[in-house]
Amino acid sequence: MLIYDLDLPALTELLKSWDEPVYRVKQIWQGLYQHLYDSPEQFTNLSKSLRERMTSEFIFSPFKVRTYLDSSDGFTRKTLFELPDGNLIEAVLMRYGDPADDHTLNVKRSTSRRTLCISTQAGCAMGCVFCATGQMGFKRNLSSGEIVAQIMYYAQMLKKTDEVVSNIVFMGMGEPFHNYGNVMAAIDRLNDPNGFKFGARRFTISTVGLVPQIRRFADEGRQVNLAISLHAATNEERLAIMPVNKKYNIEEVIEACRYYIEKTHRRVTFEWALISGVNDSPEVARQLAARLKGMLVHVNAIPLNPTKGYSGAATDRQWAAVFKETLEQAGVGCTIRMRRGVDIQAGCGQLAGSVFV
Ligand code: SAH
Ligand code: SF4
Repeated sequence: MLIYDLDLPALTELLKSWDEPVYRVKQIWQGLYQHLYDSPEQFTNLSKSLRERMTSEFIFSPFKVRTYLDSSDGFTRKTLFELPDGNLIEAVLMRYGDPADDHTLNVKRSTSRRTLCISTQAGCAMGCVFCATGQMGFKRNLSSGEIVAQIMYYAQMLKKTDEVVSNIVFMGMGEPFHNYGNVMAAIDRLNDPNGFKFGARRFTISTVGLVPQIRRFADEGRQVNLAISLHAATNEERLAIMPVNKKYNIEEVIEACRYYIEKTHRRVTFEWALISGVNDSPEVARQLAARLKGMLVHVNAIPLNPTKGYSGAATDRQWAAVFKETLEQAGVGCTIRMRRGVDIQAGCGQLAGSVFV
């Protein structure tokens, strides 16, 4: 079994069934999530017989690392993992610093951000036309342990250079709210103050807008950040690029966001891939502002990343600035995001598992 699939109660039960004393549970948990051990041999505080049992019963890494790619600026790494059943997923590390840091990254590592972009499914069932993962279709859900293992892979790697993960975004392959239980279990496991201690506020879940799950998420009250992929201001236009809009239209999505904000008092981010001539005009910005005005929200706009199966083009820098200005004049905050990792197909919506050219 994959060791990262076990939560604390399950690990406790298991060790009990092995007739191990209860303090061993804590030793294993701390070894995994605080010392970031990646094999049983490293648990030198355990008995030899327990280490051997762990070797025969536990899988520590569920993936084969098929390959990895670093972006030309050196700040972004994409890793292609092969799962035991042959499915492929990708996870991306982005190193951010303030501009003064960037050229001295090697010496100032500790002051910069290390954001992981993690997959929650192999493929995706939502079929957004501009997204490489959507273009490949749905393969399967990842288990909570397979989600955690992507994070531990990078945490263990970063540890070697005294770096730590600072943010985790569920913006890799898949729709996190279509695999709700396993994503929440992974978050709760990493959030444990006696384990990996990763603060809830440093996670961000991005969803295509599954309304029942947005409401459930609001009710459960985790402090995790929520981002909604909107990309269009009218139902007709959204339906043309996002089939999910047939099931949950813009009004329903925004209503669920109002509910979330009312319940949690947390700001919601709306994501917007700027596609030239499709959703980037001042008129569209005004329509969007009319929908969002007065809400505790922010718009993150990013020029479209190119993908094989979609012919749309990215909005250029000046026109993106006009979109932002228009939104802000109409009372809605907006940030234009930098495109990162595009040269290694590691940008938003570019993860497709098999294409690695
Ligand atoms: N399934 C979730 C999370 C993964 S996608 C969701 O859709 O929100 C992460 C983000 O990348 C989403 O906002 C998605 O709309 C966006 N995205 C997908 N394809 C893109 C592309 N080609 N260019 C820019 N952003 C894209
Ligand atoms: Fe799935 Fe998100 Fe891609 Fe849409 S944008 S196909 S929901 S991964």
